[in-house]
Amino acid sequence: LAKQAKGKHYTIATDTTFAPFEFREGGKLVGIDMDIVNAVAKSQGFDIDIQSLGFNAALQALSSNQANAVIAGMSITDERKQIYDFSDPYFQSGVQMAVAKNDTSITKYADLKGKTVTAKTGSEGESYAKSVAGKYGFTVKSVDQSATMYEMVKSGNAAAVFDDYPVLAYGISQNNGLKAVTPKVPEGSYGFAVNKGKNPELLAAFNVGLKELRDSGQYDKILTRYLGNNA
Ligand code: GLN
Repeated sequence: LAKQAKGKHYTIATDTTFAPFEFREGGKLVGIDMDIVNAVAKSQGFDIDIQSLGFNAALQALSSNQANAVIAGMSITDERKQIYDFSDPYFQSGVQMAVAKNDTSITKYADLKGKTVTAKTGSEGESYAKSVAGKYGFTVKSVDQSATMYEMVKSGNAAAVFDDYPVLAYGISQNNGLKAVTPKVPEGSYGFAVNKGKNPELLAAFNVGLKELRDSGQYDKILTRYLGNNA
C-alpha cells in the first residue's frame, strides 16, 4: 500500500508557529514536523506542498479536502479518531499552563478564579482549559495563533495560557517571558493525520518512512537538532 504513494503529489497543512515543530527561520519553514515530513516524502518518493495555515485552519483544510494531510504537533485523540486516521505516534506530549515569568500570584488553577486565560482555537490546550474552567471559575479566550496567546499573557490581557508542554518548554528556554507552573497533563502523542478512509497509501507511506527514520537514527538527529540535550 505504501508504495502507491510513490510519484504522487500531496498538500500537507500545518500550523504557522508552533516551535520547535514548525516555525520560520530566516523566512524558511523549519522544525521537527517539517524535517520529518520532508525526510519521509523523500525516502518514500512522493512530492509535498506544505501549507502553513494555522492549526485550526489546517484542520479545516483537511476536513474540506483542500489538504491531503496535516502535520502540526497534532495530538492523537479518541474524538479526532472519529473523523481522521492517524499515523503511528511520533512525539509524546500533553498540556500545561504557563504564566508571565514575573507573576507570583498564580501557581495553581484555583488562583484563576474570575480571570481570563487563553488557548489556541481547536487545540487540546483549549479543550483542557474549558474542561476545568467551570470548576475553577475562569474564562477561556481562544485565539488562532501561538504568538497572540503569548502576547496576551505578557501584556496582562490573559492570566495564563494552556498549551502543549514541549512547546512551552521550548519557548521558555528561548526566554519568551513565560514560566510553566502546573503539572503536565498527559494527553497522548502527536500523529500525522489524513481524513478517515482517505489517502490510505499516504498514511502507510508515512508510517514506513517514520519507522525508517527511527531505525536509522535520523529521527533522533532531528530531535537533537531542535531540542539539543533535552531531546
Ligand atoms: N497538540 C495540540 C492539539 O493537537 C496543539 C497543536 C497546535 O497548536 N499546533 O490540539
